[in-house]
Amino acid sequence: MMALRPEVPHSSVRTSRLASYRKRAHDILAEHLAAKGLRLTSQREKLLEFLLSRNSHGSIEEIYQAVRGAGLGRATVFRTMKVLEECDLVSHLSDANGALRYEVTLDRPHHDHLVCIACGRIVEVRWPEVEKVQRKSCVKLGFEPVWHRHEIFGRCADCGKRRTASSAT
Ligand SMILES: [Zn+2]
Ligand SMILES: [Zn+2]
Repeated sequence: MMALRPEVPHSSVRTSRLASYRKRAHDILAEHLAAKGLRLTSQREKLLEFLLSRNSHGSIEEIYQAVRGAGLGRATVFRTMKVLEECDLVSHLSDANGALRYEVTLDRPHHDHLVCIACGRIVEVRWPEVEKVQRKSCVKLGFEPVWHRHEIFGRCADCGKRRTASSAT
C-alpha cells in the first residue's frame, strides 16, 4: 500500500518566522519585477500579501474579487500572477472544470492534488514513492525532469458516500 499523506501544511512557516518569510517573498518579487523594468507597486504588494496570508487554491476570479478593493484591475491581477509564477513564488493547478487555481509555493514541500468533480474540493497529497518512481524512469530514459504536476480527478470521501447512499435508495 502506498502511504498517503494528505497533511501538507498550508503554511509550513511558523508565526515567529512569518515576517522574514514575507520579506523574502517581497524581495524575490521586487527583484524579478526590477529585471523586467517594472516596479513593485503597492497594488502588487497587496496582491502578494493576500496570497501569502490565504494560500488556498484560489481561482483568478476569487483572487481578483479579494484584491479589487485595493485598486487592482483584472489585467494587473493576471499579469502579476504570471510574474509570481515566473519567479516560482506561485504555481497553478487545474480544478474540476479545467480552470486554473493558484497556490503559494515558496518554502512549501512538493505535493500533488486530488480534485473532487462533485464538490470541487481540492486535497493536497504527498507521494514520496511516486516521486521516486518518476525520478528513476526519467534517469533511465535520460530525461531531465524540470517540473511536473499531478491532479487526480474523482470524488472525495464525502461525495463518494453520498453517491452510494443515493444509488441505494
Ligand atoms: Zn466532494
Ligand atoms: Zn496545493
